[in-house]
Amino acid sequence: MRRQGKLEYGCQAAPLRTCVGCRVRTAKSELLRLVVVEGVVIPDPGGRLPGRGASLHPSPRCLELAERRRAFSRAFRAQGSLDLSALRAHLEGLDVG
Ligand SMILES: [Zn+2]
Repeated sequence: MRRQGKLEYGCQAAPLRTCVGCRVRTAKSELLRLVVVEGVVIPDPGGRLPGRGASLHPSPRCLELAERRRAFSRAFRAQGSLDLSALRAHLEGLDVG
């Protein structure tokens, strides 16, 4: 016997995430996933790295907003300061290219 399985993904909306910079809720696919590895914030465009993540628009403006309100420390529950240089370089690279 064969069941006629219907996939009901259609009724489910795309997952939303909040940008830690501008605090706007956006489709997950529009945002860049970030993770922290040993105090360094690392962009994870493929969503492959394990651990606690945060989401940010891939924009230097949102990075600046997040930095100003210390949103990264809160999002990652970090005790000390986080190194954002890798993330910044990534965003600047996107900007140029
Ligand atoms: Zn944003």
